[in-house]
Amino acid sequence: MSLWNDAACVGVSADLFTAAAEAGGRHTVTAAKAVCGRCPARPGCLAWAISADEPGVWAGLDQQERRRIRRGPRAYPRQPRAPL
Ligand code: SF4
Repeated sequence: MSLWNDAACVGVSADLFTAAAEAGGRHTVTAAKAVCGRCPARPGCLAWAISADEPGVWAGLDQQERRRIRRGPRAYPRQPRAPL
């Protein structure tokens, strides 16, 4: 059984998820993320998408968001310390 057998994006236009979709703006990216949000294949898709580094929306994240995960905590701004 393939990771993609139960994917929520099966039958949905690939245009929603491709690099062109990211260029299409927030509405398109939001629509793609909504599909991913109800996808049972998301954990496996995320693991693949982080390693593949393909453009577009995969596993509910755009390429920039996945790259932040790939780079780890250094990709996030340092939080100020709470006063003691
Ligand atoms: S998480 Fe999104 S891109 Fe990945 S298989 Fe599911 S619907 Fe498709």
